[in-house]
Amino acid sequence: MPTPVPADASADARPALPRAPAPADARPPDTRPADARTTPLPADPTPAPHARLAAWLRAHERIVVFTGAGVSTASGIPDFRSAGGIWDRYDPRRFTFSRYVGSHEVRAEAWRMRRELWGQRTRPNAAHRAVTDLERTGRAIGTVTQNIDGLHDDAGARAVIELHGSARRVCCIGARPRSGTPAGCGFLAPADWALARLEAGEVDPRCPRCGGIVKSATVSFGQNVDPAVLARARERVLAGSAVLALGSSLRVQPAASLPVEAVERGASLAVVNRDETPLDARADLVVRGAVEHLLPAAVAAATTPGDQPSSPPHHMPTTQRTPEPGRALP
Ligand SMILES: [Zn+2]
Repeated sequence: MPTPVPADASADARPALPRAPAPADARPPDTRPADARTTPLPADPTPAPHARLAAWLRAHERIVVFTGAGVSTASGIPDFRSAGGIWDRYDPRRFTFSRYVGSHEVRAEAWRMRRELWGQRTRPNAAHRAVTDLERTGRAIGTVTQNIDGLHDDAGARAVIELHGSARRVCCIGARPRSGTPAGCGFLAPADWALARLEAGEVDPRCPRCGGIVKSATVSFGQNVDPAVLARARERVLAGSAVLALGSSLRVQPAASLPVEAVERGASLAVVNRDETPLDARADLVVRGAVEHLLPAAVAAATTPGDQPSSPPHHMPTTQRTPEPGRALP
């Protein structure tokens, strides 16, 4: 599930962009005569947030990107805290794993909600594209995301681990899974499979193989993260020498334990988020603001010609992937 992140942005949280610097980062007007302006102004003693982030990016290779809900808010993914919209009609707290397993009515309501969410097309935003750009330069070795929306894939990222699953698939969780652990037969299908069953009039589709309960292939409240996925994510994070945490509260466990372990093993941590996180004190860089504004400017500044890492890009795509229709899900 996405980590809820408030969607409101205070004015002073806005980063300085090349075209529209925030007042706090604006430089005084150059009042010198025109013929004197070829001399650069003295260096700004307090670099803009995106410039500090660019400096961190330039200083590190083998970066692992760790993303949370704040990366997708600019794509219009509804978060649980925001009023209005779909959360006026559905209470996400009802959809815990145990309630879902125990109640036909809860499952029917969850499928109604999901069907409604599937109708909301979403697209990657500048934050997703900047993560992909960072991967293509070879500086980032991959992404671990807490998001279930598939937007990193849509943006062309190649090495993404979805820690909390994907809302674009459904799976069998078995007839009576217990203790928050799915116990399905292995049936896994695109979300379109469930959509077709729902449109055919079913309200609680069952597994075509074993008759078990079918659920979106995501981690619900009260559901355990798939140990195999967690192990892959941990391996990925520890394979890097730096972690770039984007738009995550870094409070949801066990996800947040991954950057903690990386730091304890000597990795550098940079945190970009609107709000404070529990790991700010352990980070080498903390930048407050909207990821979709800060990261594109920082990646552009960090990857200008001459600033590339010495190693060649290791997974530069040769063809542009055609994005699938976007879907927003909790
Ligand atoms: Zn099954």
